[in-house]
Amino acid sequence: MVKMAALAGKSMPVLRVALDLPLHRLFDYLAEDASAVDIGLRVRVPFGRGEKVGVIVEVADASDWPVDQLKPALEILRDLPPLPPDFFGLCEFASTYYQAPLGEVVLQALPVGLKRVDPPQRRNARAAKKPVGIEAPALTEEQANALSAINPAAGFSVNLLHGVTGSGKTEVYLRLVEQALAAGRQALLLVPEINLTPQLEDRVRARFTEAGVVSLHSELAEAARERNWRAAFAGEASIVLGTRLSIFTPLPRLGLIVIDEEHDPSFKQQDGMRYSARDVGVFRAHQLEIPILLGSATPSLESWSNALSGRYGLLRLNQRANPEAKLPAVHIIDTRRKKLQEGVSEPLIAAIKERLARGEQSLVFLNRRGYAPVLACPACGWISRCTRCAANMVLHLADRRLRCHHCGCEHRVPKACPTCGNQDIHPFGRGTQRLEGWIKEQFPEARVLRVDRDSVKSRKQWEAMLELIHGGEADILVGTQMLAKGHDFPKLTLVGALGADAALYAADWRAPERLFGQLMQVAGRAGRAELKGEVLIQTEYPDHPLFAALVEHDYPGFAAQQLKEREQAGFPPYAFQAVLRAEAPEMADAIAFLGAAASLPVIAEHDKVMIYDPVPMRLARLASLERGQLLAESYSRPALQQFLPRWRESIEGLKAPSRLRWHIEVDPLEF
Ligand SMILES: [Zn+2]
Ligand SMILES: [Zn+2]
Repeated sequence: MVKMAALAGKSMPVLRVALDLPLHRLFDYLAEDASAVDIGLRVRVPFGRGEKVGVIVEVADASDWPVDQLKPALEILRDLPPLPPDFFGLCEFASTYYQAPLGEVVLQALPVGLKRVDPPQRRNARAAKKPVGIEAPALTEEQANALSAINPAAGFSVNLLHGVTGSGKTEVYLRLVEQALAAGRQALLLVPEINLTPQLEDRVRARFTEAGVVSLHSELAEAARERNWRAAFAGEASIVLGTRLSIFTPLPRLGLIVIDEEHDPSFKQQDGMRYSARDVGVFRAHQLEIPILLGSATPSLESWSNALSGRYGLLRLNQRANPEAKLPAVHIIDTRRKKLQEGVSEPLIAAIKERLARGEQSLVFLNRRGYAPVLACPACGWISRCTRCAANMVLHLADRRLRCHHCGCEHRVPKACPTCGNQDIHPFGRGTQRLEGWIKEQFPEARVLRVDRDSVKSRKQWEAMLELIHGGEADILVGTQMLAKGHDFPKLTLVGALGADAALYAADWRAPERLFGQLMQVAGRAGRAELKGEVLIQTEYPDHPLFAALVEHDYPGFAAQQLKEREQAGFPPYAFQAVLRAEAPEMADAIAFLGAAASLPVIAEHDKVMIYDPVPMRLARLASLERGQLLAESYSRPALQQFLPRWRESIEGLKAPSRLRWHIEVDPLEF
């Protein structure tokens, strides 16, 4: 029976508060002066021995808890208007779909400053310099067709814009934004990494000088992020340019969502609340009855199959926007029959020489940073393993460190083998640093620039680097996929790709999809202006269908072949998956816990859901924790969704060793 909350004989309103805690419940507090208009306001409450800031989700006149156990709230914060019902609707969807506590979902959507018990005093920001406006370019016929297929006034629609690199997808986005603004609405534009695409931000600001453009991403300073979030929430900013988390920003007049590079894995949050910003975006558009546009040159196979089945509209840009800029010619170099020097084939060396002679730029793509992926002792077989992870320590010769790219731990390069004392220990394999060194030796007259996360750590450095490249002050670029993202380098006419084979037969069945996307994207850097581009891809598997599709720039062909394989194997998008993961100091504990979760009675009640055996994760040990997982799969999305909350509740009742942590991830990308 529900007890009326009563204090001193007088009934008092009960606040049901969302707190940022890994618990699937709300927390009740008493508040004398509260009423329903306070729903959506932040509130300062006592918690344990301290205080927390939460969000009021409900104002009730009763609590399920004995009233003498309820504490009074400390202060309802009224500096912001209440978060609106559609925001809670979105959070409730994400909470239900991803099995994440509502409190975590609600609170993670707020900037840090708004969650502080003692918020710092904020100074007003200096007014930003007004950008110089630019005119919209004329649309190509394909762009115009794509645009006319989307009617922002017609309510909810999902369209996938499949456009080859350089086809002008951005211009389609900007025209849609223009329409949304003209209708008095806000637009939310999601990109994988804003810092890697400063040109896009500049372009948006220059096109919409009066609209108020704010960016929201994790690398903003706390104060700037809060300021931008407030401007978006207040409706003062009409355009929000953000990374995945910004999909939850409450926007009072939201009329359009665009997700650029929708296939990018960075839209998937891999820790804390594990969600896909793309999928949350589709829900949000549906909830608000507005259009959402997903854009990519290499769409995710999930979105592509939705477009093929007619669930999403499909819009195509097959031509480059600049008719002079042809797609680059892609050639496959069979390295089985070629002599390699430091992993580089003769034809690639010759092609670089040609570019040097013509004063054009080359890019050598190797998606592995560091000097070498491992240091090894030929005498005793010692290799540089991370002591905390099931992974090798990568050799970084530039600062003479061994570094684990998974847990971040590092130490000095040993002078001799730690096991046998042999002084002749060798780097094995190669990364961008080693390649850079070799290319510098090979082409002493060339200006060589390495571009990866070790050479570019901040946005400032990145902008400086882009300027060098644009200014023609580099002849040969050596870089990782950082370089692949949406940049026009007018003098770049050659791309050579090394080390692609590792992904072809990887245990991860999504690896070919990612590889194809990366190679298409990096190939798209070649010949974007008037100079014709050439792409050379080195491989020992020249007959692999992935390369045949690359040569033809045939994403649909590649996707068809991949989808066929996935259908036969029963993989997504033909099946729906969730994983239960457990981490513990001992693998045996993790596996035992997962085994218990795999034999819960609730499983028998859901016969459309299949539970596999517990297994170690691919990276079985990370930062001193052993990691196991258990896959739940169904051919029916609703069946899986019905099962998950009941399963989760049963798992919560399991006894687990004290240092074991577990979580459920829905639609996992990595295993
Ligand atoms: Zn040794
Ligand atoms: Zn490690």
